[in-house]
Amino acid sequence: MYYNISFDIAAILVLTVIEVGMKTVLYTDTPGHKLVRRYVYSVIVSAVIDVITAYTICYGYMIPDTLNVLLNSLYQFSSIFCVAVAMRTILNYYPSASAKSVLINRILLYMLVAFASLNVFTGWMFRFENGVYIHGRIYYISYILSLAVVFHMLYVVITNRVDRPAAISRIIILFLFLPTIFTVIQMIVGNILLIAFGEAFSALIMLFALETPDYRKLMKTMKELEIAREEATIANRAKSDFLASMSHEIRTPINGILGMNTMILKDSGDPQVIEYAENIRIAGNGLLSIINDILDLSKIESGRMEIIPDNYDLFSIMNDCYQMNRMRATEKGLDLIFENDPDMPDGYFGDEVRIRQIMNNLISNGIKYTKEGSVRVKLGYAENHGMLEISVEDTGIGIKEEDMGNLFKSFSRLEESRNRHIEGTGLGLNITKQLVNMMQGTIDVKSQYGKGSVFTVRIPQKVTGKRRMRDFTARLKDNVNVSKDSKTTFRAPGRKVLVIDDVKMNVLVFKGLLRGTEITIDCAYSGAEGIEMTKKTRYDIIFMDHLMPEMDGVEAFHRIREDKDNINHDTPVVVLTANAIVGMRSSYMEEGFAEYISKPIEQRELLDVTEGLLGDTFSLPKDSVS
Ligand code: ADP
Repeated sequence: MYYNISFDIAAILVLTVIEVGMKTVLYTDTPGHKLVRRYVYSVIVSAVIDVITAYTICYGYMIPDTLNVLLNSLYQFSSIFCVAVAMRTILNYYPSASAKSVLINRILLYMLVAFASLNVFTGWMFRFENGVYIHGRIYYISYILSLAVVFHMLYVVITNRVDRPAAISRIIILFLFLPTIFTVIQMIVGNILLIAFGEAFSALIMLFALETPDYRKLMKTMKELEIAREEATIANRAKSDFLASMSHEIRTPINGILGMNTMILKDSGDPQVIEYAENIRIAGNGLLSIINDILDLSKIESGRMEIIPDNYDLFSIMNDCYQMNRMRATEKGLDLIFENDPDMPDGYFGDEVRIRQIMNNLISNGIKYTKEGSVRVKLGYAENHGMLEISVEDTGIGIKEEDMGNLFKSFSRLEESRNRHIEGTGLGLNITKQLVNMMQGTIDVKSQYGKGSVFTVRIPQKVTGKRRMRDFTARLKDNVNVSKDSKTTFRAPGRKVLVIDDVKMNVLVFKGLLRGTEITIDCAYSGAEGIEMTKKTRYDIIFMDHLMPEMDGVEAFHRIREDKDNINHDTPVVVLTANAIVGMRSSYMEEGFAEYISKPIEQRELLDVTEGLLGDTFSLPKDSVS
């Protein structure tokens, strides 16, 4: 039998050059590098034995059969050693491979060794008879076991691929399969020795793709970058958490101040005092909106901002935005014009709160950055694209072409010196853009410096209401009549409610807001005190603050509910909270609360909730708020 050994010789030469290179110019002191070098050695040794056995098989008639069996077995052991080193090299790249995987790999290799050893005595795989090489019954067992090793290792690479970038895993799979492919070709062709050549090829790929000094340097830099990124993420999260908790802490006293101020505005007859209180209201609301912006931004940055879609009525958003901005526009002598396509549908499915926020930001900017003229808000619905379109056009100061790039960056205010007298934080547009992005929408700006700007937002929204929206201004007139009606309240003398809040000022505000109703209001300043009071007096409603020291409102609520001897165990409990995060309402309702009121408490909301919970039977004929 004659074998072509030229590929083996080529492999030995190439691997010798690689070995010299790895020892000198390409040297690095890493476990991976050492393993590749060990692999190169073992392939050289096995290729040399392969060449020798090619001759001893060929000249078998001149050599004792036992010697030939031993030499060929030696080749088998050296090949198994090559496979073992190759697998070790791969495992080095996947440190999180399970102990079970490593064990299976070892068992397969031991089985290869066992069969090769047994063969020396049994000739089950191959034997020599009178110098002729003869295949045994289980000749293919070593190939089958080697393939099992390769596929098992492929499984290890795939299941642990998160350890390494995809490109590296691909190189390792190539390293794994090249010798296998060459082995299969050798099995088919028969007399050309190709395995060592395949192994040399894979060693080359491994060396130049993964184990050169440049590659190590790259890996080190990448690792450093990854650590730096992780540190930056942690620092950023700490910043967001700090901002969120600080904003929350600030909101509580501001709510108190604004609540007390509402009392002053309601009760004082002195025009001078009312003017002062009105200024407190404006400044306080401004401060509250800055805090809310910071809270929103920190929520967006930490990925905690959620878009919560539900059915909503677009007219009510338009109306809210109009009411919120009309005073400021009038004060500046600007026309605030709201227009809409009267045929557009009135009901949509989306996040009402965020859409209102986006519209408000754009409208309030329009008013802020316009000295004279108008701010025109247009709404339409592009049915073919399913897009709600909101555009806000002003005749204001406009934006320079070169400033456009900074418009949506956080904390970035354009032309600082010119706009110094205009209040702002530079957060509004950044938040707006991020909210629009979260809803898969787009925002674009057209502006002429000195003439004005148009901001256009398009947000995909499903239509849920089939009625026409009608003209906004016409509907507004109807609405004004309705809201005149709603300025009335109810009276319910003899009814009793309990308010539990640790902040005394909040309790005072609460009492003031319900004053005209003639309801008896008892107060408690902690969860524990509140529970004690519920044991003595039967209330129609309990208003419970959420965040209180020692026992919070949710816990106090559950204690009242679960104590069946408590005369108030089934009394409706309304949660009061400064935790005005969207989505909180439903989680409070799931908890079992009857209603949810966010702070600062709006008198209208409090009256509506109270009247609703007392039920028609409790309320006396409507009367004016005192
Ligand atoms: P700010 O709180 O400063 O208003 P924004 O993020 O809302 O922050 O806006 C960022 C900057 O973009 C503003 O400081 C202002 O210079 C510019 N800008 C925003 N809206 C307009 C507008 N309608 N016309 C002109 N400039 C605007």
